[in-house]
Amino acid sequence: MAKGRITIDPERCKGCEICTTVCVQQIIHLGDQFNRRGYRAAVVVDPEGKCTGCALCALSCPDTAITVYRQERLREPRLEKMAVVLA
Ligand code: SF4
Ligand code: SF4
Repeated sequence: MAKGRITIDPERCKGCEICTTVCVQQIIHLGDQFNRRGYRAAVVVDPEGKCTGCALCALSCPDTAITVYRQERLREPRLEKMAVVLA
């Protein structure tokens, strides 16, 4: 299965929780911190590396707060890199 990771820009997030519901891996949650606009921003908690880089969260976010990286396998297996697939 593909490996991915995401970042969430807390200042763009308005805490609508769409991303928390669309992520089948259930690794996005509302955080405890409030951003400058007074919204609790979403955070990703993925200690087991469950993110597949499917980008559903980023595609669903109305505020383009999520950037998705997906691992690409290059010819030399050790030379794997995380590529931005959606920002
Ligand atoms: S890219 Fe897919 S698996 Fe990863 S956090 Fe977003 S919705 Fe979940
Ligand atoms: S969908 Fe976007 S705006 Fe809504 S909680 Fe997730 S990151 Fe924040």
